[in-house]
Amino acid sequence: MVDLIVVGAGLSGLALAKAAASHGADVLVLEARPRIGGRALSHATAAGAYDLGPAWVWPSVQPRIAGAIRAAGLTIFEQSEAGGFVFEDEKGLVQRLPRGFAQEPPSMRLVGGVTALADAFAAGLPRSAIRPEHTVRRIALTESGVEVEAQGPAGPATLRAARVALALPPRLVCRIAFEPALPPSVWAALSAVPGWMAGQAKALALYNRPWWREAGLSGGAFSRRGPLGEIHDASLAGAAEGALVGFFLWPASLRTGRREELAGLVARQLGALFGPEAGRPRDVIVQDWAREPFTATEADATPLDRHPDYRPIAWPAPWSERIALAGAEIAPEFGGYLEGALAAAEAAYGWWRTARL
Ligand SMILES: Cc1cc2nc3c(=O)[nH]c(=O)nc-3n(C[C@H](O)[C@H](O)[C@H](O)COP(=O)(O)OP(=O)(O)OC[C@H]3O[C@@H](n4cnc5c(N)ncnc54)[C@H](O)[C@@H]3O)c2cc1C
Repeated sequence: MVDLIVVGAGLSGLALAKAAASHGADVLVLEARPRIGGRALSHATAAGAYDLGPAWVWPSVQPRIAGAIRAAGLTIFEQSEAGGFVFEDEKGLVQRLPRGFAQEPPSMRLVGGVTALADAFAAGLPRSAIRPEHTVRRIALTESGVEVEAQGPAGPATLRAARVALALPPRLVCRIAFEPALPPSVWAALSAVPGWMAGQAKALALYNRPWWREAGLSGGAFSRRGPLGEIHDASLAGAAEGALVGFFLWPASLRTGRREELAGLVARQLGALFGPEAGRPRDVIVQDWAREPFTATEADATPLDRHPDYRPIAWPAPWSERIALAGAEIAPEFGGYLEGALAAAEAAYGWWRTARL
């Protein structure tokens, strides 16, 4: 019987677990994937780590992210935007513009990638506190707390805790069976919340040097044709190799049918946008989040036309004493973003401290 079970070892769950553990709680983090980080995922080369999930932070306006970076002793660098910008219309007509759209405040990236933040939170927990490959399937209320059933690598496992926090996108919470059952209104509220970027996919193209900078280009582009819709320079600070990263314009439904071709189509599009050298990347890595069952549901495959208005979701009695939500999708400020993930962890930590008194 532990004090708190946290479901999900994304940034939100790890931050919450670390906060509770550093205040003396016996915490267990159950994570479905074999790795921690959730949507934070890196591709490593000899030069360093590239982000295949979240990459940008804005510490000048995100106090929790700023604090976490400071506490972890991580270094940030500015997203490279200097130089010409490329625009491709629906018909594939390519135009070069003298500059792109400056971001204000500038987007910053982390040396070591966003996974370095996840690793720093995890380092603040005892090793045995995180159980990867444990998919939570059922949560039952008992007289003294909660009973959590997870599918582990060696079979089903039943774990007991005084309280449980669910640090996952609300639509994934709907896959867990609750006893007693949650009221239909709570299920409806949870299933209506889209996972932020859950239906998105990123492509990373690696080159031996960022040659576009020598050509006066920023590596930035917008395309109305696809497969990529928005492209940025993803090169690492101070590294000799270069990288471009793009978000797919093509929705999940279109990507699914052409999965095997995507890397080749991306290389061809980059060649059309930036010139022949761009069409010959050393490697292309496609990370399709819509295909990840521990990030996206079928409903997330439909592209969003705007940023959802994320809000806390209240749990009814008798659950409210024993269970709370965390995760980026319940934060009213910076909801969906990394800062929101940390804000939700903070709120869940506040709930846990009050509830146990
Ligand atoms: C392509 C992409 C780009 C993005 N770009 C940015 C950006 O530049 N800046 C930014 O601030 N944000 C960005 N985001 C959003 C950012 O990734 C999220 O805000 C953040 O990672 C959410 O963290 P979380 O801990 O709330 O959720 P997650 O990271 O989704 O963590 C949830 C965890 O729960 C686990 N889980 C799910 N179901 C179960 C279960 N039943 N049992 C046990 N474990 C389970 C999952 O495996 C996962 O590890 C981006 C997201 C994507 C996909």
